[in-house]
Amino acid sequence: MGSEGKKANILVVDDNPGKRLALVSVLESLNQNCVTAESGLDALRCLLGQEFAVILLDVQMPDMDGFETARLIRSRQRSECTPIIFVTAYVRGEMDMLEAYSLGAVDFIFTPIIPEILRAKVSVFVELSQQIQAIKQHEEQLERLVELRTAALTAEIAERKQAEVSIRKLSSAMEKVADAIFITDADGVIEYVNSAFVVVTGYERDEAIGKSPRIIKSGSHDEKFYAQIWEALLRGEVYRNVIVNRRKDGQLYHEAVTITPLTDQQGKVTNFISSGKDMSESIQAQERLHHLAHHDALTGLPNRVLFVERLKHALQRANHRKRAVAVMFLDMDRFKMVNDTLGHEAGDQLLQAMAARLLACVREGDTIARFGGDEFAGLLNDVASPEDVAPIVQKFVEALAPTFLIDGHELFVGGSIGISLYPEDGTDPQSLMKNADTAMYSAKQRGGNSSEFYYAGMNENALARLDVETGLRHALGRQEFILHYQPQVDLKHGEVVGLEALLRWERAESDMVSPLEFIPILEETGLIVAVGEWMLRTACVQHRAWQAAGLPPLRMAVNISSRQFEADDLTEILRRSIQDADMSAEFLELEITESVLMKNVDQGIAALHALSTMGIRFAIDDFGTGYSSLTYLKRFPIDILKIDKTFVREITENADDAAIVKAIIMMAHSLGIHVLAEGVETREQAEFLRQQGCDLAQGHYFSPPLSGKEIERLLIENHSLGSHSFGKHT
Ligand code: C2E
Ligand code: MG
Ligand code: MG
Repeated sequence: MGSEGKKANILVVDDNPGKRLALVSVLESLNQNCVTAESGLDALRCLLGQEFAVILLDVQMPDMDGFETARLIRSRQRSECTPIIFVTAYVRGEMDMLEAYSLGAVDFIFTPIIPEILRAKVSVFVELSQQIQAIKQHEEQLERLVELRTAALTAEIAERKQAEVSIRKLSSAMEKVADAIFITDADGVIEYVNSAFVVVTGYERDEAIGKSPRIIKSGSHDEKFYAQIWEALLRGEVYRNVIVNRRKDGQLYHEAVTITPLTDQQGKVTNFISSGKDMSESIQAQERLHHLAHHDALTGLPNRVLFVERLKHALQRANHRKRAVAVMFLDMDRFKMVNDTLGHEAGDQLLQAMAARLLACVREGDTIARFGGDEFAGLLNDVASPEDVAPIVQKFVEALAPTFLIDGHELFVGGSIGISLYPEDGTDPQSLMKNADTAMYSAKQRGGNSSEFYYAGMNENALARLDVETGLRHALGRQEFILHYQPQVDLKHGEVVGLEALLRWERAESDMVSPLEFIPILEETGLIVAVGEWMLRTACVQHRAWQAAGLPPLRMAVNISSRQFEADDLTEILRRSIQDADMSAEFLELEITESVLMKNVDQGIAALHALSTMGIRFAIDDFGTGYSSLTYLKRFPIDILKIDKTFVREITENADDAAIVKAIIMMAHSLGIHVLAEGVETREQAEFLRQQGCDLAQGHYFSPPLSGKEIERLLIENHSLGSHSFGKHT
């Protein structure tokens, strides 16, 4: 047994060398290490160096006997369990045996030694001792294990405590943040929500916990969207996006969400943390900003930026679908006048009313935009063919024709519309808009309240106009303006009773330009103010000169344009012109068209009354071409009503025109106003008018407008034109 196990140390303690030798020689056959000691003291010394499986201890020894030695051995901790076998020749009695056991003896060997018994007993105790050693080692290991475990547990507890502290800190922090936070388990069941979540979503804690985040799902995103979120999260990625969610009350809101998957040490997802910022306000602010940047604040219509954007899209679509697109530019004809005379507030109201009328003319998908001032633009989308555009444009013209009632004033505003078409007139927004603008300008040239489609030659017209404008700016300085005079004849007596001064522009290196062409440009450019004053002065000076030369006293009619009539200093200019020329005021007659008077009735009446106190007389020019209101006529201090030549032209062939002229004459006479017919070209016309009681006439039949020299000659030769033309028949 012993020989199979590892070698054990056996200590043999005996003062008798012979006995020691005998014991050792028996034990050597057990194949164990034997150490010998010759006294108790010697034995204790041996025990300092090493440990022994069994100690054979002689009882009778000098100095320190076996019992004393055993006590000392036992008192040492390392050998307290080592089996001690006493070797003795005899036993003194039972007391000795008991004492020996109490000292730790496990057995006795009696001398003389019987080798088999010695070997057997020692083997048993070696075995036992080894087992005890093993148990002891095991115990020690266990103890160490327990120690280690205890240390580990202590560390774990400390760690957990710290974790608890940080969780407490974390959750109180989560309570304080403004972001809505919720935590779900791995299956997406809500375990925690913070206060902001309650505020933002409207769900109380106990309503949310245990539920799925689907409670705030809005339905604004499709299933694919949510599937993508899950894919990202299950890959362990942090997911960030702006999501539209729904509050408990059903209201939708934008939330900038960050969802973080939490994993354990093995990398398995245990939770999801979602943290969301309510973006509603900033998105609304952004939308407001976007709206402001793309709309006109006054009318709420899209502005130029948005118009161009939409036009771009419309062109792309039209290109795919082979459809047409129309771009319209719209400009109010008399906006500036309203703004200047009635003030900006009325101007703003007019713009708003205008916007409403324009909007009423388009269908959904079309755009009406305001570019600023009185400039509006229209985009007609998805038009089947260019022919479809004209009726729509006509709708716009008609919508703008009726008066606007602003601030108790009835205003004739009218609008000029220019149209360009895709793809004929351009394929990009810039050229389409430029060409619509050119067309609008051309419509304005024609007197407004009309529309015009762009055509290729239009730009050349625009250039030509620019050339005229430049020429006009220098005309006064270069003395290129002159006045011609057309006689006005008394139909009853056939006498010249007045002259109408008509402006002529003798432009260097070119033909005489018609006033119909350049007066509107003088108006627009404001040059009319200076030219108008020159005209008045020239007419007055000429009148005075003819009087001084002894020619008969005739009325001098001078045309007053819209801009001149509206100018504040007209009275002053008239007074100075009359005074400087030393002319008497009652010879001066001002021709004002009815549309100028009707533009602003009250102001017109006041102005006319003020001027008439100076002795000046008035004629209404081009009567019948505007929105003549007879009831207003009574209120103006008017002397003469000039029937427009368009009625006179067909007076002998067209029964309608004849009836209108008859009615005008009757009505004017009933108001005490004289009637003059313009553009009389034939004897028949003159005769018809005379029969109807028309007082005066003017036209090529009597005389075209003539230069000052020619008029002088004519008046000197025969101031009674009737003698060679009309008078014969009276
Ligand atoms: P208006 O005041 O109605 O002038 C009459 C126009 O009829 C003149 O054209 C005259 O030449 C033309 N006329 C005269 N007899 C006949 C006729 O028998 N048949 C036809 N078809 N026409 C006849 P004009 O001189 O070309 O002037 C055109 C317009 O230009 C004037 O119309 C007037 O509105 C404006 N205008 C002319 N001179 C002045 C001016 O000095 N100041 C202002 N503000 N406007 C002027
Ligand atoms: Mg006239
Ligand atoms: Mg006229």
